[in-house]
Amino acid sequence: MTYPSHTGTIINHARFHVQLRDNYKHMKRRDFLQATALLGGALTLPAKGYPTFLPAKKPKHVLIIGAGFSGLAAAYKLKKAGVKTTVLEARNRVGGRVFSHQPIKGESQTIELGAEWVGASHERVIELCKEFDLTLFDNRFETDLIYRGNHSKAGTWQLSPEMEAFWDQKTKYWEKLRAKEKQKLDRMDWWRFLSRKGFTDRDIDIRELLDSTDFGESIRKVSSFGAMAEYAESSEKNEMDFKIRGGNDLLAKKMAEALGEASLQLGRKVTRVEQSKEGVTVRCTNGEVYQADQLICTAPTYMVLKIDWHPGLPIAMSDALHALQYARIGKFPIVFSERFWGREDFDCVTDGVGHYFYHGTKDQPGNKGVLVAYAVGDKAEVLHAQPKAARLQLILDTLRPAFGDLRSLVSGETSYYWGKDEYSYGAYAQYGIGQWFNVMPVLKKPFQLVHFAGEHLADWQGFMEGAINSGEEVVEQMLS
Ligand SMILES: Cc1cc2nc3c(=O)[nH]c(=O)nc-3n(C[C@H](O)[C@H](O)[C@H](O)COP(=O)(O)OP(=O)(O)OC[C@H]3O[C@@H](n4cnc5c(N)ncnc54)[C@H](O)[C@@H]3O)c2cc1C
Repeated sequence: MTYPSHTGTIINHARFHVQLRDNYKHMKRRDFLQATALLGGALTLPAKGYPTFLPAKKPKHVLIIGAGFSGLAAAYKLKKAGVKTTVLEARNRVGGRVFSHQPIKGESQTIELGAEWVGASHERVIELCKEFDLTLFDNRFETDLIYRGNHSKAGTWQLSPEMEAFWDQKTKYWEKLRAKEKQKLDRMDWWRFLSRKGFTDRDIDIRELLDSTDFGESIRKVSSFGAMAEYAESSEKNEMDFKIRGGNDLLAKKMAEALGEASLQLGRKVTRVEQSKEGVTVRCTNGEVYQADQLICTAPTYMVLKIDWHPGLPIAMSDALHALQYARIGKFPIVFSERFWGREDFDCVTDGVGHYFYHGTKDQPGNKGVLVAYAVGDKAEVLHAQPKAARLQLILDTLRPAFGDLRSLVSGETSYYWGKDEYSYGAYAQYGIGQWFNVMPVLKKPFQLVHFAGEHLADWQGFMEGAINSGEEVVEQMLS
């Protein structure tokens, strides 16, 4: 991750599309996965356990579980193809893990409790924003560091020259690797990969702080294939580029509006799915029953396993669903009476419990401002477990080396811990060692009349873009 200066706020779509064409070549992970699938080897799928009767004919009516970006994108594409859809969503809102929030009573400032950044390479999100007339604005930051009790301002700290050189050359390094070498990377965690390269303890400590923010768990748990692929193929700011003016959930609301009320049922938690050659029957907790030709399930893996499937899920699939972990991320936004951090593009990575802080109300008018403490893994779990006052104290203590005692400036706080979210029990999938090539392909396979989609099955895994791509790809397969 590098942190050069950027200027400009509103995104010009024409300029953007030139950038997009350039970035399209970033879909290298997909090319690689497909290439290795053709070669066989590690991607060989289990032949047994998938009784299939996928129909040859185009479906007339498709049910979709989930009104997150994946389910909405699938429904929107089906609607455009003239196929009737019914989206069943357990929550009483659309957007799923995209969850915008107004933290200051009577003011319009919006923060994100779920997905924050739209990446410069995230083509479909950007296209959909254009289609629905939503404005993307610059959400890039310049990063301070609090490490071992010392505060260093953005631009005044660096990693060792060896690490900086490796980071600068990482895309070239990645492109030179042969397929077998990339597969080997999947058998090693990212921490070990960096340690073996002989970087200093400080380098690795700081990469742990930076990169665990991306993956939502310690880099000791992350596949080094997943890490290298993401960093080598991402935008300069590692896809932490933009945000939708007024809240990222506006895109979900616009897609829902375009689908029409009749196609979207909120407060419908699916508990049972039955399949026969005639079609799919779905039951919800409120007793309602829905029938259609086919089903797209976009629920996170925890919820897929909560559904009563008839016939039961193939063993290989349920094993893969159990194997995949999700990152534990908590967002703990604090409203301050003034923006004492001094610059709109302030963020700060720390080795304290508060972990990573960013200005959640960047470039939004008002005197008050919100710093979001973004904690991952055990740190998130610890902060979530504390009573409110103790949690606030821990977060403020993390910032103390930079700003001293901030208590008198606090005018509100909120929190959202995704590790205990009722419908995901995690923020996004976290592919561990050896899982890219063994778990994802199994979870992607259709099961009779049911197709699976969602962030966890995408090349841009862990992103809104991935959720949209995955929903749209399943529809393409369904209609081909
Ligand atoms: C803290 C956090 C930070 C993130 N940061 C970013 C970021 O900066 N940039 C980015 O691009 N992405 C980010 N993401 C990831 C992004 O939010 C997800 O990749 C994306 O929103 C997932 O969409 P989805 O449709 O696959 O899943 P979801 O949004 O989870 O949608 C699935 C839907 O299914 C519903 N559901 C589940 N079970 C059932 C059931 N049985 N019956 C009916 N409905 C059901 C759920 O309620 C949910 O609404 C972040 C996520 C989190 C949590």
